[in-house]
Amino acid sequence: MTDLAQEIGFMQRALILSHQALPACRPNPPVGCVLVKDGEIVSEGFTQPPGCHHAEAMALANYDLPLNEVTAYVTLEPCSFVGRTPSCAHTLVEKGIKRVVVATLDPDPRNSGKGIDVLKQAGIEVSVGLCEQEVFDFISPYLLNK
Ligand SMILES: [Zn+2]
Repeated sequence: MTDLAQEIGFMQRALILSHQALPACRPNPPVGCVLVKDGEIVSEGFTQPPGCHHAEAMALANYDLPLNEVTAYVTLEPCSFVGRTPSCAHTLVEKGIKRVVVATLDPDPRNSGKGIDVLKQAGIEVSVGLCEQEVFDFISPYLLNK
């Protein structure tokens, strides 16, 4: 089991990674992601320039082993829609991730809880709200919420 202090540490690492996404990721939001297995970070990612990997896709691309014991910590709800790149929520499902921990929901009307629903409907454990305020303070200027 992972204790809360450890979980906060993983999300804070994802938040630090997300800073590296700027400014090249625009107009996409700067997102960070870490994959954790047995209490250790095994892969990391952050939003790449438009048309390239999102944070989750980058972390997954850098980790070739099975994901059935892996938890993803991601600062923003994974995207549920296909834009310039495949949907991260569906990719996490296809790859068989065990659990996904999300800091804050994506207010983009194309997403807005749908990414969480995709994961839950596939039977993946999902937690939302870890470090939410801290992440939201950083990411909110970059979110599409019109
Ligand atoms: Zn995505």
